[in-house]
Amino acid sequence: MSEFDFIERIRVRIARNAFKPTDLLLGIGDDAAILREQSGRELLITTDLLVEDVDFKLDYIPPAWLGHKALAVSLSDIAAMGGTPRFSLLTLAIPLASAECGVRSAEFWDAFLDGYCALAEAHQVTLIGGDISGMPEQLAIDSMVLGQCESGKSIRRSGAQVGDAVFVTGELGASAAGLQLLLNGERVDETLADAKQQAMRAHLRPEPPVAFGQALGQSGLAHAMLDVSDGLAQDLAHLCTASQVSATLIAEAIPVAESASLQLALHGGEDFELLFTAEAKNEAALQRLAELHQMQLTRIGGVTLRSDAQALTLKQNGIAQPLTPQGFDHFRR
Ligand code: ADP
Ligand code: MG
Repeated sequence: MSEFDFIERIRVRIARNAFKPTDLLLGIGDDAAILREQSGRELLITTDLLVEDVDFKLDYIPPAWLGHKALAVSLSDIAAMGGTPRFSLLTLAIPLASAECGVRSAEFWDAFLDGYCALAEAHQVTLIGGDISGMPEQLAIDSMVLGQCESGKSIRRSGAQVGDAVFVTGELGASAAGLQLLLNGERVDETLADAKQQAMRAHLRPEPPVAFGQALGQSGLAHAMLDVSDGLAQDLAHLCTASQVSATLIAEAIPVAESASLQLALHGGEDFELLFTAEAKNEAALQRLAELHQMQLTRIGGVTLRSDAQALTLKQNGIAQPLTPQGFDHFRR
């Protein structure tokens, strides 16, 4: 399969998609895609780089799940801004070394695109372009998503206010627990649904809370938000720094996944849940919104005045202790 056959395969597949956005004037096939600009809207742009053997290993992620995850990580970023994902771009650096087997095979890329396109279609996201090149050894995937929101309604990290409550969606730690299982040699089996399988699935096939993120944006209830990608403590520290506040977490309130521990819930990465702050008096309204979207929502702490010594405090059994993030850092591993 040549590069041009490959692009043609992608183009045909996207053309088959029943959903045709009216503001897309030109998709795959020219030097650039063309979108009609919309007044009263803000454009949100995000990109994520996934590198083989750093962000994933081909021996444990099924190709369809890799396609799903490549898009999911960027959908999560748009959700975390309170926006609606609309369009995507996909750039691939494909290993030259491994001949026509594995990652160079048509079967691999058909499965990858199946996973990618199924998630894109589920959220009415249209792939409008990308690029392909070779790499000496490993596979690299750059996933870009463009999203929209009403002007002024995007939710930044910097809006948290002293006195806000801290909320998180879903459960935490499963993804990190799943990664540990995979690194210990466990593998996914789609016929099983036990806690171990759920944990590996959380890591390899995350479902970003797209609709709830968008609803939060429209509601105007959240003051600051991000997605939990580096670990709860690390990401809350980022939010606190951006907002120039501190925060206290209540250990007993943190929704720890069945397969995980409090430690993994605090410091494990890639949960792709939404972490946000909002006025405590809006908790009931937020819970109703979460219920509407079949999301679990938990109040896990509060925002306090910035103290220079420590951004985060963990209260466990009524005892407050400084909490130091130990989340993932690509430059530190
Ligand atoms: P150029 O040489 O002008 O960059 P390409 O041959 O790389 O053009 O790409 C041709 C068309 O195919 C462009 O519209 C581009 O966006 C699209 N395209 C290339 N790679 C991908 C990909 N991985 N996924 C989706 N579209 C792609
Ligand atoms: Mg190109």
